[in-house]
Parts: sequence; C-alpha cells; structure tokens
Amino acid sequence: MRRKLIAGNWKMNLTALEARAMLATLRANIDKDSAALAKDRDILVAPATILIPAVSQALAGSSIALGAQNMHFEDKGAFTGEVSPAMIRPYGVTHVILGHSERRHIFGERDDLINRKVLAALKHRIVPILCVGETQEERDAGRTLEVVGRQTEAGLAGVNAEAAEKIVLADEPVWAIGTGRTATPGQAQEVHGSIREILRDRLGKEAGDKVRVLYGGSVTAENVDSLVSKPDIDGALVGGASLK
Ligand code: PEP
Repeated sequence: MRRKLIAGNWKMNLTALEARAMLATLRANIDKDSAALAKDRDILVAPATILIPAVSQALAGSSIALGAQNMHFEDKGAFTGEVSPAMIRPYGVTHVILGHSERRHIFGERDDLINRKVLAALKHRIVPILCVGETQEERDAGRTLEVVGRQTEAGLAGVNAEAAEKIVLADEPVWAIGTGRTATPGQAQEVHGSIREILRDRLGKEAGDKVRVLYGGSVTAENVDSLVSKPDIDGALVGGASLK
C-alpha cells in the first residue's frame, strides 16, 4: 500500500507574512492530536524559494513536510540567480518539485537538465517530485503516453531500484494546470498505469510498485477524492487550491 501524498505548490505567491498566516491555519487543522488527516496521508507545502527559511521556522514540530519548487544541480558556482540543493537542505527541505510544466514551457527546461537535477536531489537526500505531462496538442494527436513515457524515462536516467522509495512522480497534463479542466479519474488512471509499467520495467516490480505517482491539474476539494480513489493515483500536486 502506498501512502497518499498531498503536496501544495504555492508557485510565486504569498509574502512571508501571508505564508505564516496560512501555515497557522493549516497547522491548526492538520497537526491537532486527533487530526485524522495527518494520520492517513503525507502533507507537504512547496513555497517560493525565498520563503523557505520563514516556512521552515513556521513548520517546526509539524507533521507537514517542506518542499522546494526548483533548484540547480550543482552544489555551488557561477549560476546567477540559482539556488543549490546544499543551500536548501539545511532548512529541512525534504522534497523538490522538478520539471514542472511551467519550468519546461516558460523557462525552457529540457529532459536532460531535469535529469541532472533529479540525480542531484537524490545525492543530497532530497526526494525529487519529477513532473511529466502532455500538452493539449500532444493529447489531441494521441501522443499522451509516448510523451509522458519519454519524460519519465529521461527524467529517471541513472536512477536505480534502491532510490525507488526516494522518488515521487507527478503526472500533470499541461492542459489541466491552472485551467479548471481536470483530467477525469479514468484519463488520469490510464496515464498513471502506463507510468507504473515504465517504473516496473526500469526498477523491477517491487521497487516500481513503491513509487508514488501523484496527479496534478486543477485538483480541488471537490474532485480530489474521485481522483485518488484510482489504484495508481497516489495523491495530488495542487497549485491554485493549495492557496485556499
Ligand atoms: C501545479 O502547478 O502543479 C498545478 C497542478 O496547478 P493547479 O492545481 O492550479 O492546476
């Protein structure tokens, strides 16, 4: 049984003050002794990089995990504007979102760069949340499984079975991100099932079955239950709704 993971991607939103207020509410709901929520799933927030120190402080003693939204693959060097895994790890960052569609499509990140980041995250004991997903055009052309398969294979190049428990995949159809159009549970399960097959092929059945594959794309409080009820949907990566 894979434990569900619900991860909030705050993107470029919230000031430190707003983040603290948000976390106070979240902790009141999630960290209460009796909170059923925290017992049956993992919960994570991924703030903008500059908020990591403030969020780390606000999460002290919490069951809520801290993630980053991106990072460089080198430990240090002449990479103006970037942050390294070695810089974020000491703040208790346990996860990092990599290859998000906004990084791929707005900032031009390609599979080989994303793969270097995945390997760097593992080296620093940070769990990479590797995002994959097809555009509307690719879906319309019947290329969804091919595109998602290529992104999965390329992103995981050099990752072995031992690392399986330390990686998370996120299937995020580009056409569903921030649009209010969610994949149906059936559409998402088809993609997740094919990702699961790739994971089993690459890592072996036992290790492949341990990897959590999240769904992301306009997930809300209303549609999350039907999505995560599918066998290969192991949680959600939530953008807009995680700010509410
Ligand atoms: C995301 O950014 O990862 C995402 C899924 O956004 P939204 O939930 O707003 O579609």
